[in-house]
Order: sequence, then C-alpha cells, then structure tokens
Amino acid sequence: MSIARIILLIIVSIGYIFPQQIPKLVVGIVVDQMRFDYLYRFNNNYSENGFKRLMKDGTNFTYAHLNYVPAYTAPGHSAIYTGTTPFFHGIIGNDWFNKESGKHIYCTDDERFKGLGGNDRMSPLNLMSTTITDQLKLSNNGNSKVIAVSIKDRGAILPGGRLANAAYWYNSLNGNFVSSTYYMNDLPAWVKEFNNKKLPEKYSEMEWSLSKPLKNYRLSLPDETKIEPDLFKEGRTYFPHSLKNIKEEDKLEYLKSTPFGNQLLNDFVSAVLDNENLGQNSVTDFLAISYSSTDYIGHRYGPNSVEIQDTYIKLDLQISELLQMLDAKIGKGNYLLFLTADHGVAEIPDLINTKIKQVISHNKFVESIKGFLLANYGTDKILSDYSNEQIFLNYSVISEKKLDIVDVRNKLAQYIRDNFNSILIVFTRDDFNGKIPSRNDPNSLLNGFNSTRSGDIFIEFNSLSSFELNGMDKSTHGTPYSYDTHVPLLFFGWGIPKQEINEPVFTIDIAPTLAILLKITEPSGSIGKPIIK
Ligand SMILES: [Zn+2]
Repeated sequence: MSIARIILLIIVSIGYIFPQQIPKLVVGIVVDQMRFDYLYRFNNNYSENGFKRLMKDGTNFTYAHLNYVPAYTAPGHSAIYTGTTPFFHGIIGNDWFNKESGKHIYCTDDERFKGLGGNDRMSPLNLMSTTITDQLKLSNNGNSKVIAVSIKDRGAILPGGRLANAAYWYNSLNGNFVSSTYYMNDLPAWVKEFNNKKLPEKYSEMEWSLSKPLKNYRLSLPDETKIEPDLFKEGRTYFPHSLKNIKEEDKLEYLKSTPFGNQLLNDFVSAVLDNENLGQNSVTDFLAISYSSTDYIGHRYGPNSVEIQDTYIKLDLQISELLQMLDAKIGKGNYLLFLTADHGVAEIPDLINTKIKQVISHNKFVESIKGFLLANYGTDKILSDYSNEQIFLNYSVISEKKLDIVDVRNKLAQYIRDNFNSILIVFTRDDFNGKIPSRNDPNSLLNGFNSTRSGDIFIEFNSLSSFELNGMDKSTHGTPYSYDTHVPLLFFGWGIPKQEINEPVFTIDIAPTLAILLKITEPSGSIGKPIIK
C-alpha cells in the first residue's frame, strides 16, 4: 500500500470518527393532512425504504401535536417553520377577513409583485416572524441556499420565509411550476425546461390504479361506498380512477386530487437537485418540500378510504425515491431531514355519528347571529364577517349606534352559548386581553389568536360536531382535537439518534430543534423548545 493511499485511508477514517460539523443540506418534508396513525395503520403495505426507514433509523416522536387553532395549511406550515403559533406569526387562516379593507385576503397574496410562469402575485410578507430558513440565511451572510417547493403556493412560500432564494409551486391553469418577482426577475432556464416537458398533461392521461391487490386495503371502508363522491364523474367510486370524463380545461386542476400530484412534485425536486447544486459547498443549504395531493384526496374521500390508503402506499414509494436521490446527490448521513404534517383530518362525519347527525348549517348559524343583533340592536350590520370560526364586528356601526363594544361582544357570546349546544367554547377578544401564550399554554384558541388580525368572538364545537360540508368534500380539519392535531414527527440523518420518544411535543418545537442542531439562532417569534438532545 502506497503512503498516499495510507494517508487517504486515515483521512477517510477520521471522517467516520468525527462526522462533518454541519449537515450539507436540511430537508424539510411536510405532508399536507397526514395523520399520525397513517404511519402505523398502513405500515404493512409500506416498503422498507420509505416511511419505515425514517422510523427505524431516525428519531420518531409518537406524540407530536399542533397547539393552536385553526388546524389549516397556512398556519400549519407557518408554525413548523417559525416555531410559534398564530399569536406571534400572524397567519390566522389560509385567508382571513381584513379589518382595514373589509375584504378577505389570502395568506400569501401580494399585489406588489408579479407572477412568473403564471399570474400568481405572491410573497411571504404577511408572516410576522422570521422562519428557520431565514435564520439559516442570516447566520452566514446569505451564503446558504434556500429553496421551497410544493403543489400549493402557501406550502412553498411560507416555509421559504422572507429570504428564500426561490419558492416554486404548481399553477393548475397552465400546468407550470411558477414563482413570483418577490424572489427573482425571471424563472431560471431549468424551470422553463422542466415546464416545457408538459409532465402534468402526460400524468393527466394516466390511470390511477391500486398499487396492491384490493384485499390489502381491508382496514379501509369498501372501495364502492355511498359516502364517497363520484369525483371523477365515472358513475362509481371504485378503482381504477382516471380523468377521462373530466373536461379538458379542468384536468390540470383535478390532477392535484390524484397521487400524480405528489409524483409531479418529486419530479420537480429531482430537477432542483440536478440544477441548483444544493449541499455542494461548505455551508448548509435548505430544501423545503410540501406534498399537497394527500390533502386534496383526504378532503374528498376521508381518512378511511381505499383512495387515501393507496395515496399513502404510493407516497411511501415517492419518499423512498426522494431518499435515494438525496443519498446519491448529497450522501447518506450528510443531510438532516424531518417529516411532519401541517394538520390531520376528521373521520367522515357520517361514519362517527351514525345514529344522530351532529352537523350544523353554516348559513343557519350566521342567520341566527344576525337575528339576535337585529332584535337587540336594531341592525344586523354589526356583523362584518364570520370566518375561521371567528366573528368580526363592525366597529363603526357600533360607535354610530353608541353601543358599548365589550357589552355587545359579551351578549352575543352568551347568546351563542345558550343557543347552540354543539358549541363547547366561546371566548371574546376581551378574555384574551393582556394574555401572552407560552409553549405550554393549553388554550389553543389563545395560541391561535392574533391581536392585530383576529376577530371579536371565537367559537369551538365539541369534538364530535362540525359545520356541514359542501360540494365534493366529505371531511375536513381545523379543530384543536386529536384527529386534526396529532401528526407524525420524524427526524433522520445527520446528527439524529435512532430512538422512539413518546413524550408530548409540538410542531412549534421543530424550528428551535433545527436551530440548536445547526447552532444558529431560532426564528424571531419562536416559543418552542429543542427536543433532540
Ligand atoms: Zn385541507
């Protein structure tokens, strides 16, 4: 053996004994609407190299929860990446009633910027906290590269924070991955090249058939059932599904409600890794990925459907494919990965409440509030808006009528308590006055309250009741209850021990944990705590 070879061997051995001081890449994976139990309920049908690899070789937190309402996509992604709740990060819904303009605003809409590849004028500027991705950039004068990708705009933009090099998402009007002038002046050539391949058009011609024989899906409801919608206009609800009967102009939108949406994102991630040189120099880069098709399919078919089970069997293979790409491009042990969800989902109401339907009409609820206001104050214009389970009152009407705002809030809150026995909790803004939540605050309504943006009265149904659903949706999420808040939390790769931890933790702990592992400052609004020692 030559001396050079011996020296090389020594260097390689030192590398094993003293692993790299920082990971080359952090990979954040959010699976939209993934419940914790899916890791176990579908386990028999998973491969060895997807979810099971993360569970076996990483740290598996079996009792991770959201600690705020509403359990929606935008607050969910914000909480994960800012380490805090809507009280501090300000994203109180996917959209919300804007008190100044009197109109609803979407969480990432921003007219100051233009769409690239589509007409999506967007930015992350409604976030009231930095993100862990921002902190990584701030730690080294912007040398880290941060790229965030998703099918949903908000699934990419919020994780990327203010300082991302790029956020890319899917535009179903033209099938492109698009971005905004907030990040850059023009899409990179490789993104245009990717879009020119027209993969969504190709996928929309393909059939969604089961990955396993039907008998493997016996923990789900029957494939043909009356409580499922005929989403794809096939005159049946059983497999296989296809977009054959969907109008040509709607196909790229419907594609999101099939597992091909997740595959398309994997294809895009592969192009990111091929073209952006992530993890190839002396600083840590960050790739934030959010799989969205799980949420679209979950809303339509619910958590007990063959459709959702098959979506996860396929996602397991897509995660396995992603890990293979990362092993090849970044190297085993050189990347730090976490996987979690922005929220879970409720069982289909018809399945739980088989004898009595505990479903309330949204319109009747609003009409009833208006009736109370009219009878007691002579006008229903006192109600400005009801959204995200919050009532917004019209302050100028209240002052014109010379009414006391606190009194109006209290009387309306009491009316709701007295008249809707499916509603368990009613708080007014005054109940939260002067309160500042900490990590352990058990009041998920206070944690979800933002003094600037939130409304006047906050309601929560009991854990078995909900508003009735409209259209094709058969289930939804948003509550502080276990089905919506218990999510998977797996850490894997660089610096992560093999272990299972059953202690309660929160999704707001993810960002401070990454901060400590990377030895950087946690996000500005963070109230979580590091959970990996
Ligand atoms: Zn959803």
